[in-house]
Amino acid sequence: MRAITLVPGKKGTLGLTEVPDPRPGPGELLVQGLVLGICGTDRELVSGEYGFPSDEPMILGHESLGRVLEAPEGSAFSPGDLVVGVVRRPDPESCGACARGEFDMCRNGGYTERGIKELHGYGSERWTVEAGYAVRVDPALGVLGVLVEPASVLAKAWEHIELIGSRAWFGPEKVLVTGAGPIGLLAAMMGRQRGLEVHVLDRAESGLKPELVTGLGATYHAGDSLDAVGGYLPDIIIEATGSGPLVFESMLNTAAAGIVCLTGVSSGGRHLRADIGQINRDIVLENDVVFGTVNANLRHYRDAAKALQEADRSWLDALITRRLPMEDFEAAFDKGDHVKVVVTLDS
Ligand SMILES: [Zn+2]
Repeated sequence: MRAITLVPGKKGTLGLTEVPDPRPGPGELLVQGLVLGICGTDRELVSGEYGFPSDEPMILGHESLGRVLEAPEGSAFSPGDLVVGVVRRPDPESCGACARGEFDMCRNGGYTERGIKELHGYGSERWTVEAGYAVRVDPALGVLGVLVEPASVLAKAWEHIELIGSRAWFGPEKVLVTGAGPIGLLAAMMGRQRGLEVHVLDRAESGLKPELVTGLGATYHAGDSLDAVGGYLPDIIIEATGSGPLVFESMLNTAAAGIVCLTGVSSGGRHLRADIGQINRDIVLENDVVFGTVNANLRHYRDAAKALQEADRSWLDALITRRLPMEDFEAAFDKGDHVKVVVTLDS
């Protein structure tokens, strides 16, 4: 069968290669790959900017969607089910969090990840997954189920925002999302599903991003600074650009007891002048919280699948701006102006 492979840590090794068909082990599902979503992490793996160096080729891909071909006796799955595979696995050493099933909160960094760290991903015509790490997707969602993995990261972000909020009276009204890429847009979608007044800030002056934001019943602001948003102070800011200046501005511009959730990964090496004393003063005197979040656990995938099921189908459909056949997989790593790019695996 064909698979999208690369040698982690080595630029220029991306290719479509013939690999042996996977054989499901005990307790594993055999799955027909349907579509694979491509994100910034994949692009960094391809460019060699990120990755856990290896001499062996790895099958790329962590935003999966497939159809079950074979399921073990007694599993909760049957042939024909649509499934998404969970990305992370607990570390073999088992830190305190992993030992309790909280692998998304791994403390020692010894976790592994399908398609990212030490494990083959889901970018192949067929793949296997442990039944316990597969999440069912409503058939009505169809190929849009490929959005479950990116949405799971936001389901976790929102869960943590609400957990932090619940330390005291919590009645958020306004949320600001910085960045209108897939992560920002899904964050905004979940904010609207919670009945919040949602604002989204992005650099794009026109085009699909403002349309998608407006389509959610949220307000779009074009600009690269929080100045573009107007004078109000949001109760929650979900930062999805990783841009240093926006991170600093977010920390200074919440309402009292504000929560800043950082989801973007910045590249290091850029120095900014910032008044750390002022930032500290603002956070302390307002009981603010700034926290980071990455990855997701099983319940977040299920929450994500539910959120997508409740979302407007045509809005979700518009998020996927490019669908490529497997032969044209290389074009998927060219981001251009696209929101979400997917590769079809069963063409
Ligand atoms: Zn761990």
